[in-house]
Amino acid sequence: MLKLTNTLTGAAEPFTPADGATVRMYACGPTVHNFAHIGNFRTFVFEDILRRHLKSKWNLLHVMNITDIDDKIIRNAAEKGVDIREYTAPFTAAFFEDSALLRIEKPDVITAATDYIPEMIQLVERLLANGHAYREGNSVYFRIASFPTYGRLSRLDRRELKVGARIDSDEYEKEQPNDFVLWKGPKDDTEKRWDAPFGTGRPGWHLECSAMAMKHLGETLDIHCGAVDLIFPHHENEIAQSEGVTSKPFARFWLHAEHLLVDNAKMSKSKGNFYTLRDLIEKGYSPLAVRYLLLSTQYRKQLNFTAASMQAAQASLDRIKEFLFRLRTARLSAGETPEARDILSKAQSEFEAGLDDDINTAQALAAVFDLVRACNTALNDNALREEDRGAILDWFSEVDRRLAIIPAEEVETKDEEVEGLIAQRNAARRNRDFAASDKLRQELLDRGVLIEDTREGTKWRRK
Ligand SMILES: [Zn+2]
Repeated sequence: MLKLTNTLTGAAEPFTPADGATVRMYACGPTVHNFAHIGNFRTFVFEDILRRHLKSKWNLLHVMNITDIDDKIIRNAAEKGVDIREYTAPFTAAFFEDSALLRIEKPDVITAATDYIPEMIQLVERLLANGHAYREGNSVYFRIASFPTYGRLSRLDRRELKVGARIDSDEYEKEQPNDFVLWKGPKDDTEKRWDAPFGTGRPGWHLECSAMAMKHLGETLDIHCGAVDLIFPHHENEIAQSEGVTSKPFARFWLHAEHLLVDNAKMSKSKGNFYTLRDLIEKGYSPLAVRYLLLSTQYRKQLNFTAASMQAAQASLDRIKEFLFRLRTARLSAGETPEARDILSKAQSEFEAGLDDDINTAQALAAVFDLVRACNTALNDNALREEDRGAILDWFSEVDRRLAIIPAEEVETKDEEVEGLIAQRNAARRNRDFAASDKLRQELLDRGVLIEDTREGTKWRRK
């Protein structure tokens, strides 16, 4: 049974989709005014692991937005004198390139805020009609005094609320629980704007997510997730706007991924500890090692990113690869052993139990390494059989479907093309045609295949 810690209650609660069949999940996507940093990707990797785990149990409809309208985007696009689509397009493309390198699966529906303006206008009209919103100057604001549970998600004390005070910016601090802007009138002639019955302008950031989430997932989502720094004001405001319209709970479960620290400090450009995935690849780290590091700590704990933890992540991945190479190429006799089956079933159940326990990825990885240790011992003792190998490699394929840290070729036992080249090379060697055999070895190397001649024959692995 899957348990997830719900920020609404602070408790780990059993989770099943409301309709018993399909999980309706919304994740706040990137704001595309810059390259996403590795702290952002910690959240997206968590959501990817959650996604894969949910899909192992139910159908999933996972929606993620692209925030392509917000204060910074409007300001930066205006400074460059380009349209906001033109300004955001390269950052959106970079986000998906980085996500692919990190093996983050694409959500089922990806929504750009600029495509949902009519839905946003409709929400504002309904909030104006039922008294949750009011016009002031050429903008429209949400009246937090009209929503008695405002602050429940972020545990704001009602007394802190500044009734009647207003705030226009998309992002603000906890000390400012004011009426927030739903629709902003343009500040000058150049600002991007859309026509609406209540005046020309553009949506506030919070409104965008409510409109896109409810359009695709209905009025009550099963899961809404994001990073902890979105709890206030973003998610608090999403709840107020959505429930202000529907009078139904907006999301049953709220999940929040904790911060990533770099060398125990908050990442910031001024401190020089700010990294994008591109920066880390330039330093020579592999994207899979970055993914491994990002998922190696359970999502609700702070993760401290250091050069040493990066190297440890790479070493852990290498250990798995070494083990798979050894297992794949070992000479085993036919049959199976009850001991190996026990090792495997224990690892499988601990792996699932870890993920079921609030996506405890650290426990799931521990189960993988327990198996690696036990199987290495069994290999030393000649205690593994051919069928055990098949079952263990099959499970590693499943581990990869869930964690995406072991490339498929590590698990494959056969690659006809590679084996064909190795056979040709061995024939050349037998004929003492060393020029040909060296050429074939180089050809294999160019394909990323390393070969090793052993007493048991030629073994190969990928770099
Ligand atoms: Zn959002």
